[in-house]
This record gives sequence, C-alpha cells and structure tokens, in this order.
Amino acid sequence: MAHIQRVTFKLNEVFYQKPFHITNSVRTSSKVIEIALELDNGLIGRGEASPSFRVNGEIETALTGLEGPISEMLRGKEVQRYRPLFDILDKFSRSAPSLKAGVQYAILDAFSTLISTPVYEILGGAKAYVETDFTISIDSLENTVQDAKKAAEKGFTILKLKVGEDLASDIARVLAVQEALPKMHFVVDANMGYTPKEAVAFAETMVRNGVNIDLFEQPVWSDHFDGLRFVRQHSRIPICADESAKTRYDALRLIREECVDYINIKLMKSGISDALAIVELARSANVGLMIGCMSESGLGITQSIHFASGTGAFTHHDLDCPFLLKEVIPYKYRQEGNRLYPNG
Ligand code: MN
Repeated sequence: MAHIQRVTFKLNEVFYQKPFHITNSVRTSSKVIEIALELDNGLIGRGEASPSFRVNGEIETALTGLEGPISEMLRGKEVQRYRPLFDILDKFSRSAPSLKAGVQYAILDAFSTLISTPVYEILGGAKAYVETDFTISIDSLENTVQDAKKAAEKGFTILKLKVGEDLASDIARVLAVQEALPKMHFVVDANMGYTPKEAVAFAETMVRNGVNIDLFEQPVWSDHFDGLRFVRQHSRIPICADESAKTRYDALRLIREECVDYINIKLMKSGISDALAIVELARSANVGLMIGCMSESGLGITQSIHFASGTGAFTHHDLDCPFLLKEVIPYKYRQEGNRLYPNG
C-alpha cells in the first residue's frame, strides 16, 4: 500500500518556435504547471496542467493557489484506489479542468511506477504508437504553402490548417496548399470564428474543389449548439466539436442533439475521468473521436500519448506540441518521425 503524502506545483513557461496565430489569438509562449505527487514510500508521480483562459477560462495564478487545498484533499489516500480520487478531482471540472487533468494523471503515473506497468497499459494498451498531424496556424498564403510543403517532406500525412478569421483568405490558403500537395489530407479548425452560414459556405467550397477534408473543427461559437447542428446538416464534410465539448455532459448533449460527427477530446478540457467517459459515450453513439492538445511540454504531452495509445479510441491525433514548441524534453514517450510511442 502506498499513500499520497503531498502534491506540489511548479509554474513553468514553454515557447513556440514561431508565433501561434489562431482566430482572435496570437501567442509566443504559454504557462504550464508541473505537478509532483509524492507517496509515503518516496515514489513521485508526475503530471502537467496546460491552462487555457480562451477555452477553459483558467488563470494560472488562481490555479497555483489550489496547491494547498488539493494536497489536503488527497493526503493519506491510497494511490492504487484511484477511482474515488478521480471523483474528488471532478469538483474542478469547470473551474480548473487542466489542473484536474494533471493531478489525475500524476495519480496514474505514481500508480504506474508502483506496479511497474506503463499508464497506457493500465488504460487498455490498445496501440503501440499513434501518428500525429501537424498544425499550421494562420499566416500569409506564401508562408502557409511553404510550411505545408516542409511538413509533407517530414512525413506528415495529415495537416491541420487554422482558419476562421477571414473567410475569403482562409479559402485561398487552403486551396493553395491543396494545389501544392494534392494528395494531402486536412483537418480544418475555425476555432469558433465563423457564423453558421459562413461555415456552410466554407465547407461547400472545399467539397466543390475536391479538397480532402477529414474533419471541420469547431466552425461556430462554443455555446452555439444549434449553429453546430445547422452546419452539420448543411455540409457534406464531417463536423467536429472542440471548444463545445469539455465535460461528459457537453458530449452527451452534443450527441443527443445530433450536432456533430466527431468530438475532439483534450485532457486539458476534460481531465482523465471525463475523457474516459466521452470515449465511451462517443463509441456508443457511433461518433468519431480525435484527440488534441493545448501547449503541453514534453511532460504534458506524455499524458495524451498514453491516453490515446491506451484507449486506442482515436482516428485523428493532433498531438504536435513536440513539433511546435522549443526545447521539448520527452517524459515517458519517444518520437520517430510523426509517430509517438508511449514509453513505460
Ligand atoms: Mn480546435
């Protein structure tokens, strides 16, 4: 038996290789919280929160203030009995979801070390590795085409293109990339930037031009579920919720109201507990799944690699932080081209 002694947080900063520009947001760096969960036998489990104000409404300093309260809530609890601990942390589902994710993962990481079994095997061990796409944020047409060609040369087979700020230039950029790389597959992500009618116009233009769009992510505002359904009903490409799908209850509603074909799960929105619930909900409803990330470091992205490999639930993996950030030190994974291997 091993009991949790304390949980400590450390605020770190990660830096993008080039400014990351999406709808209404440009950033060059991002703060992450490194979490260490110490057991009474000296073992340490690690996890990471990559907070998001834009998606979750999270503010880093408010989250670091929860170090004491969370440590207190978990002190003396048995780490191998992790499900009730997940339930305790579910209290933070709306107020601090990224922190919930990192602490839940740190619990699994400690348990994993204790029983000498990698987290992806605890979660099911479905896949030996996953293949990630590569994201190209909003930039000039010339730079977008150049970045796309570079990514294709590196072996990426799916590119994620950020759109949603200006319909005409978005269409021009996607068509230019398609012309340069006619066999490439795409995920397009509007990050809530379009009106429902603009989104339908965008989707129709893609279909007319034969662009291989696998998924169209979050075309409209997160709370606009009727808008999502409208876009889905009037478009011939699969619609995927991202910002709309945080908790299991969001996912349940999206499925019930027939708003989406796919859901993009991010641990930083849902934690491990709600991510697991959404996987089963989506499977039951024949809704497809992709997994995404925020701005996780090498420690943080480990969590999603183990979750995706373990559950084997995803057709699309957008786990490209290691390729977008500077100085990424892998925690328990290794990288071979676009393949990410969980590494016990
Ligand atoms: Mn997205």
